[in-house]
Amino acid sequence: MPNACSICTHPERAAIDSALVAGEPNRRIAPRYGVTETALRRHAANHLPASLVQAQQAAEVVRADSLLAQALDLQARAQGILNKTEADGNYRAACSAIREARGLLELQARLLGELDERPQVNVLVLPEWQAIRGALVAALAPYPEARQAVAGVLAEVEHGRAGA
Ligand SMILES: [Zn+2]
Repeated sequence: MPNACSICTHPERAAIDSALVAGEPNRRIAPRYGVTETALRRHAANHLPASLVQAQQAAEVVRADSLLAQALDLQARAQGILNKTEADGNYRAACSAIREARGLLELQARLLGELDERPQVNVLVLPEWQAIRGALVAALAPYPEARQAVAGVLAEVEHGRAGA
């Protein structure tokens, strides 16, 4: 039998779900939307969890996207510091900035590891990522060891092995 639930097919299903999630008693929800308490109970037990899980997954994707955006912003700033210290010949500060950038890359790798499982989000094709990647590798050219370490992290990120 296809979906015969009078709540699932109800035009105000979202409002009913909200009332259920808010913990409002069935006896008050039922008359407001012209449905039975039995239908509400059955819907809450069998159909509501699935829609809640979907909503939570959507929220998690948004959250991961937001975290990634913050990581990219932090990395851009670390990149700026790296460029400046390099120009000043401040090798110690440059090394510190490189370590910071590398930590941020690792953070991104973990975030990307989460995102990779969701086919609708592929951050690696974003122009922002390509720009950061290119700028970072170029800026690290005078520091072979650091460059190698960052390249390793980049390879992990781009081959989906990071954060495992
Ligand atoms: Zn239902």
